[in-house]
Amino acid sequence: MKVKRCKHAKKVVSFYKNNFGFREPFQIIVDGTFCQAALKGKINIKEQMPKYLCCAVQLVTTKCVLAELSSHAALHGANAIAKCFKTHNCSHSTFLPPADCLDSFIGPTNSKHYCVATQDCDLRHKFQERGGIPLFHIIRNTIVLEKPTESSQLLMNEISLGKVSPTLPEQMEITLDNNQPSSDTKRKRRRPLGPNPLSVKKKRLKKSVSVASGGILQKNKGRRLRLIRKKALQQLANDVMTEK
Ligand SMILES: [Zn+2]
Repeated sequence: MKVKRCKHAKKVVSFYKNNFGFREPFQIIVDGTFCQAALKGKINIKEQMPKYLCCAVQLVTTKCVLAELSSHAALHGANAIAKCFKTHNCSHSTFLPPADCLDSFIGPTNSKHYCVATQDCDLRHKFQERGGIPLFHIIRNTIVLEKPTESSQLLMNEISLGKVSPTLPEQMEITLDNNQPSSDTKRKRRRPLGPNPLSVKKKRLKKSVSVASGGILQKNKGRRLRLIRKKALQQLANDVMTEK
């Protein structure tokens, strides 16, 4: 049974680590109701929490929670437990009811990655609907990390979709990359057309040599032909004259 509990906790912890960016030590905000339930169930939260989650944990509470606990004599034991945790300055000048204090502390997106440990059903329901907030409560003298709610799953899908579609700077990079090959192809096309002084010189030399030699040969050929024609015509003329 204990192994099954730990497996479940590990699974949920890795869900929040992988999808919502939670990192160790897990910051868990504990309210008065949770401390009271732990006292009743004889649970040492500081000992049990890291064992249950198999990771480092930082337990915290707020000034408003402590103010509420210290105002009730019956909650003295819970107050003593809460005082052992780190107290976050929630910056509420007039103390708010703990539920409101935690709500404002977590905020709409839980950007600081807090977990909440509370027995307050209304507050739990509110955070369950918001999603992305790991929730703890105590049942039958044991701490339970709640399974991620549908809202958490939906939020995870939205985040993953956001991860898949490229961000603005990524899009800029992509467009730059797309432009680069086209410029390369243009360069490649230009290269053979572009002037290469060495090749041009050689070509000119070869051409000049070939043209010069070819020209001389052609000129010589032309002269020879003309001479032959002249001689032939002269001979014909001579023959005609002699026949006459
Ligand atoms: Zn507060």
